[in-house]
Amino acid sequence: MDPKEIWSSVVAELEVALSNVNFSTWIKPLKLDSLAEVDGRYIATIFVPSGFHQQIIEQRYYGKIQASLKKLVGDQVELSLQVSQDDTSQAVSETPLFATAQNPPASSSSSDRANRGFLNPRLTFDSFVVGSSNNFAHAAAQGVINNPGRKYNPLFIYGGVGLGKTHLMHAIGHALLDKYPDYTILYIPAETFANELISSLQSKRTSSFKKRYRSCDVLLVDDIQFISGKEFTQEEFFHTFNELYMAESQIILTSDRPPQEIPRVEERLSSRFMGGLTVDIQPPDYEMRVGILQQKMSEMGVEMSPKALELVADNVSTNVRELEGIFRRIVALAESQNQAVDVGLVSEFFGIEKQRKSKRVRPTSIIAKTANYYDYKSSDLKGKSRKAPIAMARHIAMYLMKTELDSPYERIGELFGGRDHTTAMHGVEKVGGIVRSNPQMRTEVSEIKDLIFS
Ligand code: ADP
Ligand code: MG
Repeated sequence: MDPKEIWSSVVAELEVALSNVNFSTWIKPLKLDSLAEVDGRYIATIFVPSGFHQQIIEQRYYGKIQASLKKLVGDQVELSLQVSQDDTSQAVSETPLFATAQNPPASSSSSDRANRGFLNPRLTFDSFVVGSSNNFAHAAAQGVINNPGRKYNPLFIYGGVGLGKTHLMHAIGHALLDKYPDYTILYIPAETFANELISSLQSKRTSSFKKRYRSCDVLLVDDIQFISGKEFTQEEFFHTFNELYMAESQIILTSDRPPQEIPRVEERLSSRFMGGLTVDIQPPDYEMRVGILQQKMSEMGVEMSPKALELVADNVSTNVRELEGIFRRIVALAESQNQAVDVGLVSEFFGIEKQRKSKRVRPTSIIAKTANYYDYKSSDLKGKSRKAPIAMARHIAMYLMKTELDSPYERIGELFGGRDHTTAMHGVEKVGGIVRSNPQMRTEVSEIKDLIFS
């Protein structure tokens, strides 16, 4: 069967299955580049207009496209989503929205990731603060270091964003190398594992791929939840896991949720994830936030009065990354004013934040600033175009109206050319979900906020 025909059938099937808006926003812009048979499997290389678009497809439509293709070719199909470079019609929105981090990594030689080279030198136990929210995970990590491959295998660490999973994982890597300098340690984000696997198939280098991951002493796989729904990656990882496990090589995995809650993962794999020790990391309590601030102060060589420190610890309770970010901004404010970091300055900082929040902003200005950020006009956002980048910008503006002004959905709908309140609600929820999972998008949104409030 001709790939073109296959793709038309997939598209036709999805057109029926999805709402009009979703179909035209997300599916229609896709192009099947090739459908190649490699080692008895099919790899469908699909062009997506942007990194952001890719993220949405990964999260929401990967399984549907895959299932539809499978029906047609009757075999295992893996999707390789590639951001197309030549699509000038999308170029406008690409500049700010989609940074390179989203694009598949250039197939860098992998040996340079082995051992110390891949570990972030900053992320060690020396800089890792232990408190009630992570002491269990920390103790488990020590157990692994004392007895790698035997005691807790795999070690599965899970917890929300910015709580220190990656930090702990790197710290274990450093500690193991200190103790066993001859170890081969591999660190890889699960997403990269999946991408590398596919490119190794395409270039017929699978055997070296397999060999590398199946022959290390310690394998650190970050954000394993990314293998959700990726059957082929799961199969390969299953074999990798088994070989390493049998050889008593240590496996450490991190995830944003416990193994049994990762959707669309084969039973045999999730049960292996649970076969060692599963530990969680919780958001830091007050004591720990103080500890972390002290740690950051000494790292950055910054002085801060104890009262000021308490004030920061009191005001930021979400996660460590956020705490770090706020601390840095406070230090920057102090530097710009040539002042010490004391209660006055910290209060001023939080005061500015609050003021910024309560500053009167008109909804039309949110539309205008968002449109401007993406090089559109307000009328584009209020208009009827369903082109993906315009629709996205529109949804972001809706989201900001909700989160910054708490406008009712009815009102938001009205402001966008008399759209229905459910459309507004849908847009707001969608962007909310993306902002939670996509750092790129968080940056975009906060830059737009800066424009709005400046
Ligand atoms: P996650 O992988 O869970 O999203 P990270 O490991 O990337 O989180 O941590 C986010 C930031 O917070 C990093 O800069 C990290 O160094 C810092 N951090 C997290 N936990 C701790 C901790 N216990 N002590 C010191 N810094 C921490
Ligand atoms: Mg992480």
